[in-house]
Amino acid sequence: MNLILMGLPGAGKGTQAEKINNKYNIPHISTGDMFRLAIKEGTELGKQAKQFMDQGELVPDEVTIGIVQERLSKDDCKNGFLLDGFPRTIAQAEALQKLLAEMGQTIDYVVHVDVPEEKLVERLTGRRICPTCGTAYHVIFNPPKEEGICDKEGSQLVQRDDDKPETVKNRLSVNMEQTQPLLDFYDKKGYLVKVNGDQEIDEVFQDIQGFLDK
Ligand SMILES: [Zn+2]
Repeated sequence: MNLILMGLPGAGKGTQAEKINNKYNIPHISTGDMFRLAIKEGTELGKQAKQFMDQGELVPDEVTIGIVQERLSKDDCKNGFLLDGFPRTIAQAEALQKLLAEMGQTIDYVVHVDVPEEKLVERLTGRRICPTCGTAYHVIFNPPKEEGICDKEGSQLVQRDDDKPETVKNRLSVNMEQTQPLLDFYDKKGYLVKVNGDQEIDEVFQDIQGFLDK
């Protein structure tokens, strides 16, 4: 089963990826992990990618797709794979189509974990951090016993700049602009399935299984 997982920051993609990995025994392949592995193994493409990254440059698509190819050829992908964070652009999506065709394979589903933007803002802005011990809380999902105060040593909790509403909204809109063309691309090809991510974790997973077990 060859899958791509899509969703905005805060949609709970990582949690669902772990559940899919456990149930269907296919590796969860994130872009970052893929690059780290290629660099660690010292493959030719890994070395090239590292050069670009060291110079603070974007890794070109032909290097990235080569690394994807190396990763998908590994033994643990014989039952399939779950791609997360790749492809990011239409050019990459087209390169992936070509690569899979060469491998005699295809994508089975592109699973879109869909959560309304206002819910994502609520999830992403609710994080509070203790500046003393580093413990993370969430005002709705994991609140401290006393509002704004760390349970451990009583420090005043803070909100990181990254978690402030304006920053979060910006990050989401940049992501949405990037993601929408890909969703359209896969929808036209008939791969896209949309799952309501605004539910309990297990309910979301049940909906995903509903598609995958068909
Ligand atoms: Zn603390």
